[in-house]
Amino acid sequence: EAKRRGRATSAIYKPHMRDKLEERAILENDLAAALEEGQLSISYQPIVNGTNREVVCYEALMRWNHPERGEISPSVFIPIAEEALLIEQLGAWMLRTACNEAVNWPENVRLTVNVSALQISNGAFLGTVVDALAKSGLAPQRLLLELTESVVLEMDEQLEQLLASLNRLGVTFALDDFGRGYSSLNYIEKMQFSMIKIDRDFVQSAASGSPKSEAIISAIVSLAKSLDIDVTAEGIEEEDQVRAMTKLGCSCFQGYHFGQPNPAANKAKRSDRDEGPAHKVA
Ligand code: C2E
Ligand code: MG
Ligand code: MG
Ligand code: MG
Repeated sequence: EAKRRGRATSAIYKPHMRDKLEERAILENDLAAALEEGQLSISYQPIVNGTNREVVCYEALMRWNHPERGEISPSVFIPIAEEALLIEQLGAWMLRTACNEAVNWPENVRLTVNVSALQISNGAFLGTVVDALAKSGLAPQRLLLELTESVVLEMDEQLEQLLASLNRLGVTFALDDFGRGYSSLNYIEKMQFSMIKIDRDFVQSAASGSPKSEAIISAIVSLAKSLDIDVTAEGIEEEDQVRAMTKLGCSCFQGYHFGQPNPAANKAKRSDRDEGPAHKVA
């Protein structure tokens, strides 16, 4: 059945001939089968400590290898998954699989998993997290959930209670893509973030000397320090950016300079630790 559908759809894959809606409908249809057919996987990208460049965390990033089209970006398929109400299922798979993987890493290495607004607004989310932790045996303190600003800004009482429940378990949050949207500093104080991740565009403009970006990053860093929150600069591609962001007070770094997302975060497995500085990069 799967094969037949694959062939049938490949015959009509002529992107120039169709509008975006049609394209979306096709991907939506394919995505529904992707999980069952083993087309989804996870890549892990290191986040390193600026002081000794050791890995403190891996971010789990979803990958979809489409049988006809190859790799499709999560920036394309995650919004489709949300719209098609598949995000809950994909997100649960992500959490389960990544927790099972992370439990094999050294104990001081944490895991961050991206979660979307629709995924957490679903009543089943708390149970999904509890289940992933219980079945994997991963300590809740080692799990961070990455939330974007838009999620935080749309927070209602129900979501606040959900996050508080997760926090009581020991799970903390990372504020993802900080600076991209409508940044507001006051919610940072209200919530149990253990990390703020400054968006790549913002990092680039600060590193290239934009006084405004520098000032905003300095402000967020000093707030974060007073609240004992780590600040990660995202999208680091050059040593110069490390220097600039270190000067502004960022403590952690993520980006191609330190490591691409890689299916084998199992480089981090405990058994490999004796073989060399697997957690030391760049
Ligand atoms: P994000 O959470 O901000 O993840 C960082 C993205 O930046 C990743 O793209 C990563 O590959 C890319 N990146 C990392 N370092 C560099 C760099 O030095 N230069 C450049 N140019 N890019 C860098 P990716 O994997 O394509 O993911 C895109 C977005 O899709 C993520 O942004 C996240 O918002 C979303 N996403 C990925 N996996 C999941 C998931 O499991 N669930 C949900 N809800 N969203 C996900
Ligand atoms: Mg992220
Ligand atoms: Mg990010
Ligand atoms: Mg980003």
